[in-house]
Amino acid sequence: MSNITFEVEAEDPASRARAGLLRTPHGTARTPLLCPVATQATVKTLDPHELREVGAEIVLANAYHLYLRPGADLVAHFGGLHGFMSWDGPMVTDSGGWQVFSLGFGLEHGVGKIASLFPDEGEARPRARGQQPRLTRIDADGVTFTSHIDGSTHRFTPEVSIAVQEKLGADLMLAFDECTSPLHDEAYTAQALTRTHQWAERCLAARTRDDQGLLGIIQGGPFEALRKASAAFIGNLPFEGFAIGGSLGASKDDMRRILEWTLPLLPDQRPRHLLGIGEPEDIFDAVERGIDMFDCVAPTRHARHGVLYTPDGRLMIHNARFREDFGPLDPACTCYPCANFTRAYLRHLFVADELLGYRLATIHNLTFALGFMRRIRDGIVSGQLGEVRRSFEARWRQ
Ligand SMILES: [Zn+2]
Repeated sequence: MSNITFEVEAEDPASRARAGLLRTPHGTARTPLLCPVATQATVKTLDPHELREVGAEIVLANAYHLYLRPGADLVAHFGGLHGFMSWDGPMVTDSGGWQVFSLGFGLEHGVGKIASLFPDEGEARPRARGQQPRLTRIDADGVTFTSHIDGSTHRFTPEVSIAVQEKLGADLMLAFDECTSPLHDEAYTAQALTRTHQWAERCLAARTRDDQGLLGIIQGGPFEALRKASAAFIGNLPFEGFAIGGSLGASKDDMRRILEWTLPLLPDQRPRHLLGIGEPEDIFDAVERGIDMFDCVAPTRHARHGVLYTPDGRLMIHNARFREDFGPLDPACTCYPCANFTRAYLRHLFVADELLGYRLATIHNLTFALGFMRRIRDGIVSGQLGEVRRSFEARWRQ
């Protein structure tokens, strides 16, 4: 067992929502939390000082991308990602499982992890048009795949993934799993689940450090029996926490059902992470069913496309109606861009394709998203979560 601990501080009387403290060797993160995504050891356009300013308490980096470039051994020279990217707070690494499968199968078949919910998943969808689809070969022991960077052949097993993640040194690692696609049927998903469960035990056995926690991943696609079997199996293993992964079905109702099947089977004293989810309108449903942690590229990717969060929903800053809009982006926001720039200026930066626009928009969207998570947490602690949800939904338009 590791020295990562989780303490439930408060519970919502009307749901399964809870507010907790995730304690790590690099500090404490308050849950429910959203991890900004630092796929390539950077939250795109922001430095660690700015990350602190926007309220980030934890970030999520990616083992697949960092294994391929710059390589885990190089990162290990810095004592791991904390030293390499100068982020001294808590950190999570994804195992590479999702990338190995999504960048193979998903691209070949033109679907993402959750086709209808998140059509543009994958922070750095790297395959250039015209390249051959890469092949991903799965066997009982692991996965052989080709690099999206240079086409070279690589192999991930549970042991390789853990060795890479130990070199990267994040406070929390994710187990290496087989991430099935929404196109897989129940028979195939069941076979994959058997592998995922065997790999979960191998990931636990492969660990050599006690200062990193490991999250077990529940798979099973949209199938009730498989999801419940997975939650029961993975929930009984000595992980420091758990994550719900894979295809969450075709609709938000499917996502809610999967959470209701799985979360009651997991131990209450460990944190639960919902992988790849984090749009504001999806957070309440998950938190109220007992999710503590999220990660999502949406706030940062939206920002780079000029899609900005406001209490009334998403706003497209390119829109001509902002040409002479001399007000702040969001009068209620406390971020530096909202205090110092007008919508007209932000629009100009995007229309002119100026780099500052991406950074200011990212600062704003993360300030909004992380402030939103804090309001939810405060609502749980004060017993007002229902009121926080009602006041958010009264204004927010999807
Ligand atoms: Zn702002």
